Amino acid sequence: MKLATKLISVQFIFVFVLILGAFLATYFYAIPHLNKLETQQGIKNLSRVENRINQELELMSILASDWAEWDDTYNYVVDLNKAYETSNLVDNSLFELKIDFIFIVQVNGTVIWKQFSDRVDSLASDPLWHDTHWNIKHPIIALMQQKQQGILYSPLGPLLVAGSPVLNSQGEGKSRGYLFFGKLLTAEIVDKFSTNLEFPIQLIVNDSGHKEEVHLITHHKKIIHGQIGLNDDSGKFISVSIEQQRPFYQQAISTIKYALYIVLAIGFVCSLLFFYILKRLLISPILELQHQADQFGKDQNAIPSKLLHRDDELGQLSISLVNMARELNRSWGLLEKEKNEYMDASYTDPLTQLKNRRYLESLLSKEQTWRTPKHWSFLTLDIDHFKKINDSRGHHVGDVVLQQLSALLSDVCRSADIVFRTGGEEFVVVCEGTNQSQSCIVAERIRIAVESFNFGPADNSFKITCSIGFYSTYNNKTKVDWQAKLQLADYAMYAAKKSGRNTWVGLAKNEHYDFLPDFTLPNEISPLEYDIEDQKFVVFSSVEDFTNIRWQ
Ligand code: GH3
Ligand code: MG
Ligand code: MG
Repeated sequence: MKLATKLISVQFIFVFVLILGAFLATYFYAIPHLNKLETQQGIKNLSRVENRINQELELMSILASDWAEWDDTYNYVVDLNKAYETSNLVDNSLFELKIDFIFIVQVNGTVIWKQFSDRVDSLASDPLWHDTHWNIKHPIIALMQQKQQGILYSPLGPLLVAGSPVLNSQGEGKSRGYLFFGKLLTAEIVDKFSTNLEFPIQLIVNDSGHKEEVHLITHHKKIIHGQIGLNDDSGKFISVSIEQQRPFYQQAISTIKYALYIVLAIGFVCSLLFFYILKRLLISPILELQHQADQFGKDQNAIPSKLLHRDDELGQLSISLVNMARELNRSWGLLEKEKNEYMDASYTDPLTQLKNRRYLESLLSKEQTWRTPKHWSFLTLDIDHFKKINDSRGHHVGDVVLQQLSALLSDVCRSADIVFRTGGEEFVVVCEGTNQSQSCIVAERIRIAVESFNFGPADNSFKITCSIGFYSTYNNKTKVDWQAKLQLADYAMYAAKKSGRNTWVGLAKNEHYDFLPDFTLPNEISPLEYDIEDQKFVVFSSVEDFTNIRWQ
């Protein structure tokens, strides 16, 4: 995988982890936390409802104590004068005080005044309210003992009751009795509470009550349940239900959503930025170095010249790469030079400095040599009676003769011709672009040059001769049986030897003869003689009468 692909993958994983992390944090922390806050808020709202009812009771309690600590009321409890009743205890008073009943009870529990509004008139027949004497167990008296205000059960609904001891205007002395104000907790009052508290409240009296809990119904709505106990032992409860919207939740969720978008966008932009910076700082320079190394791999002379102009590790790596390339190039140069020297040495005959048989074979084996169709002539040359020179004049003179003949051959031949020393006193001349008649001229020129040259030391020179054979051909193939061609030249050279030495014999394919494509060179010269007799080959020679040529 490429470095850039890996980086992009890492970025994707990073963004994915970011999304997953944000999702898990929202799902497992933010939303449960929000729900918990909402639940706490809901429970608080239950208290606010209770407080609101208590506030109502407090107001009634203040009113009750206003009336109870008034001298007229104080006197009325004893003298029961009608004037007090007709001026104060009238229906209009209930309306103005916004209450549903008034009770005035003497200390001994005798009820001296009870008055009901139309709304609660039916309560008058209830034994609880009908009694003219209340003992200590009467719920209202019991309420008075505890905290002088509270909520009592009635079949019409919960009753808010507040009482106050009847005292003189200074609030001093012994209480003569009790004054109670009461109010039915009507739907209207509950509506008023709802308006004050800004959420809809439902109050229902039942036997079981409701334990405090908050139900998060949907993302938009929640219902809070709770109960308010009654102050009598009727076994009844006020079940409170509050239905509320969840604006805070909605707002929090949309805030979380936007925060997530922002985090994601920042993560994405950071990833891109990170990728861009890494690409600039790391990937591009590495690719540049890779390119330089590849170029150098393909072409050893393409030493990277463009260094990364940086002062970090990559800059150092670039310098190291260039240094390494220069060092390698230098070593390769030396190796190449040494290789050429070794090749040269292995291809050169040390005595005559001519190319040797190994080079001849290497040259003729290359397809490249035969690429262009052209004439070729292969000449083989052997010194006549060379052994005698060695024997009579010494081996070192023989060596000198070999060196002089090599120089002479190089002189006589064209620069394009290549002279090889292929054995002791045997030479091969490969003449490229030389046809049959030119081959005859070359062979004769060499023969005369050798015959005319004074060999050996200047003060004791002598003459030698040589025998030459050649095979001339036109080649238009790339795969060539060059061994056969050299062999034919050798056959011709041996024929020259047999035919009297100091002479040359040449062979070429007879173009007029329908040459068999599968013609193979015979292993011995005798069958070749028949081929020559059959005129499969054309013969050339310095021997005037070709019938004098001895093939074996
Ligand atoms: P022919 O005319 O039949 O060729 O007779 P020849 O004596 O030349 O042939 P032969 O093959 O009998 O002898 C070749 C001699 O060449 C034998 C060997 O001692 C000599 N010779 C081969 N290599 C060298 C060399 O490097 N230096 C010297 N001085 N003599 C060599
Ligand atoms: Mg020989
Ligand atoms: Mg010889």
